[in-house]
Amino acid sequence: MPKRYVLPDLPYKNDALEPTISKEIMKFHHDKHHLGYVNGANAALEKLEKARKEGFTGFDVKATVRDLSFNASGHVLHSIFWTNMRPSGGGKPGGALADSIDEDFGGFDAFKQQLSIAAKTVEASGWGVLAYDPVLNQLMVIQAEKHQDLAVQGATPILVIDVWEHAYYLQYKNDRGAFVDNWWNVANWDDADRRLEKVKR
Ligand code: MN
Repeated sequence: MPKRYVLPDLPYKNDALEPTISKEIMKFHHDKHHLGYVNGANAALEKLEKARKEGFTGFDVKATVRDLSFNASGHVLHSIFWTNMRPSGGGKPGGALADSIDEDFGGFDAFKQQLSIAAKTVEASGWGVLAYDPVLNQLMVIQAEKHQDLAVQGATPILVIDVWEHAYYLQYKNDRGAFVDNWWNVANWDDADRRLEKVKR
């Protein structure tokens, strides 16, 4: 059987992150937008399978792998995003993540400021991303434009903030800054810490 991407359930109810993120946003974001990326990635895989069987004549490999990169990256980032949040989240990280943030950013406040600015200043649609870079064995803050652009290859996202308009517009209108400032109230540090431990192993 060919492998396919699968939409994960939200790990909480649609209204669980209120008042930071409304029930309506969560429902549309997960049920429509994330599903769209799953379906788009699978459609690209199917097209490529078909072309391998029937021939590549007249088939646009470049456009299809571009679709695959966009949609599969969207799926991966959203899957991380849902678990990076939780009701009654916020506060500060503990565990190895806290130590790494202190070592790699010089403290939590500097890290939080850097990721907030990165998220607020993404050009058009994208993400603020805390990633683990195995080359330097350290955390770094990067941006993703759309879902796939500006990646540091090999670096694994640990904590991501979606700043596409679909992530906040129904509630925050054009005020991305307010959304990012409030987002920290639902951060799930235990999840980010688990992700860092896993990727380091
Ligand atoms: Mn999104």
